[in-house]
Amino acid sequence: MCSASTLAICCPERARLEEEYIAARDRMRNLLRLRQVTRLEQRRLADDVAMAIARLKEHQAAHGCER
Ligand SMILES: [Zn+2]
Repeated sequence: MCSASTLAICCPERARLEEEYIAARDRMRNLLRLRQVTRLEQRRLADDVAMAIARLKEHQAAHGCER
């Protein structure tokens, strides 16, 4: 389905990592809006988002499937 020439636009692993990042970001936004999170939880949510971004960038660098 994904030939070498189309790898850059259809890498399922990258799509999965992007979804993880978006999910972590949305979770953080929703919880912050509710204002029912402790400072510790805020920190952990921000860490989740940062880690998701890091994993995505690491994958793109290693796999060469950057947009
Ligand atoms: Zn990839």
